[in-house]
Amino acid sequence: MAGIKASQSRVSELNRSHMLRVLYRGGIKSRAQIAQELDLTPAAVSKISARLIDAHAIEETSDIRGKGNRRSIGLRIPAERFHVIGVKFARTIVQIGVFDLNGTALAIDELPPVTDDCIADVVSDVRSRLAHIIDADPDVVAVGMAVPGPYLRTVGRTALVSSMHGWRRVNFLHEFGTAFRVPVYVEQDARAGVLAQSLFGKQSDGARVPQPDSAAPTAAPTAQSTAETTEGAKPSTLAYYLLGEGIGLGVIDHGMLINGELGAATEIGHVSIDVNGRTCDCGNVGCLERYCSATAIRHDLLEDPDAPHIAGVEDMTPAQAANALFKAAADGDQAAVHMVARVGRYVGYGCVTIINAFNPGRIVLGDIVAGGGETLLAAVQSVVDERVIPQIADATSIELSSLPTDSAISGAAAVAVNQFLDNPSLFLDLK
Ligand SMILES: [Zn+2]
Repeated sequence: MAGIKASQSRVSELNRSHMLRVLYRGGIKSRAQIAQELDLTPAAVSKISARLIDAHAIEETSDIRGKGNRRSIGLRIPAERFHVIGVKFARTIVQIGVFDLNGTALAIDELPPVTDDCIADVVSDVRSRLAHIIDADPDVVAVGMAVPGPYLRTVGRTALVSSMHGWRRVNFLHEFGTAFRVPVYVEQDARAGVLAQSLFGKQSDGARVPQPDSAAPTAAPTAQSTAETTEGAKPSTLAYYLLGEGIGLGVIDHGMLINGELGAATEIGHVSIDVNGRTCDCGNVGCLERYCSATAIRHDLLEDPDAPHIAGVEDMTPAQAANALFKAAADGDQAAVHMVARVGRYVGYGCVTIINAFNPGRIVLGDIVAGGGETLLAAVQSVVDERVIPQIADATSIELSSLPTDSAISGAAAVAVNQFLDNPSLFLDLK
C-alpha cells in the first residue's frame, strides 16, 4: 500500500509540474486550455490548480477569450514573486546574480578576478555574499550554480580546469549544498547554458525538427526525471556551445540533458582538432579550447607575430583580451578581423563535430567569444557548409545567443528555475 501511495504522490507532483510548465511556457491559460494540453479532466485540473493557488504558485487573472469567444478566467505564474540566485564560476570570473522566475536579471555582481592562490577566499566570500542576499530577500527560493566542466556531478568536483588547478580542490556540494535555508543546485556551465536557452531563450524561427509527443502526465512515473524537458516549438535537439574561458557544450536531446556516466559527457573543448597540435592539461593534444577559447585568444595576442597589436594585453584577463580584439575588429583593424575569422573557423571545426555527434536542430553560440558577432558566425557557418553533409548542414541552424545577460550566469539561474518547475513540493507549501 505504501508503494501505491508513494506512486500516487509522485503522479500528483508530476501533474503539478506539468501544469506549472504549461503556464511557464504559455503565459496565461484557462483551465480548459490546460486540460486540453495535458489531456486531463476538467475536475483534475480544478483540483491541481486549487492546490497551486493555495500555495501562491499560480494566480487567477483577468478574463481571457477562449474558443467560440467564450470568456474564461486565466491562470498565470506570478514569476516576479519568486527569485532565484545564479552563481557563475569560471576560471577567473565569479558572478552572482538575482533573477526572477522568467530569467530577468534584478541584480548582477562580479567579484574581482580570481587567481589560482585565492580560490579558498573566493569560495568563502561567495558563501557570505549568498547568505546576505538570502537573508535580505525572502522571495529567494533556490540557488543555481554553473561550474566549469568536466564536472563530476555525484562527487561535486570539477575534474580539470586548465591553468587553474585550485578549482579542482573545491567541492561545490560540500561548500554550498546545505549552507542556506534554500536548496543549492550545481551544474556544469554549458549544461546550465542549454537550460537557459531552453527556458529563457527565444523560440526557434523555423522549428526544423518536429516536437516529440509530450509524455502523458497521468502515466505512471518513470525513473527518469522530466527536469530537462524541452518546450514549445523548439527543436527536439538543442545544443548550447559555450565559448568562454574554456569551451563547453550542453545538449538537450528529446527532453533530456546528456550527462554521461560521471557527468563528463559533451566535453567538446577537449576534442582534438589537430592530433599533432598544442598540448592540453587534460592529456590530449590539439584540444579545441586551446585554439578558440578566450584564454587561447589572450595567449595568441601575446605570442602570435601575426596577431593585431592590442595595447596592454599582458595585463588583461582573457575576457578583456577577447573583447579588445572584437572591438579592434569592429573598428576596422584588418589583422583583428582576420584573427576573429580564424577563431571562428576553429569554433566551426567544433560545430562540425557537434553536428556529427548529436545532430542538433539548433546550435546556440554563447559566452565571451560569441562577442565576435557576425564576423565570427560567418566563419563558423562557412566551415559547416564546407565540411558537413549538405542535407544535415541545411537542417541545422547556428545562431548567436539572444539572451541579454551572459548565458553562464543566466544558466546558473535556469538550473534553479528548472528545479522549481520540476519539484514544486520542495519549494511550496502544498499540504
Ligand atoms: Zn584538453
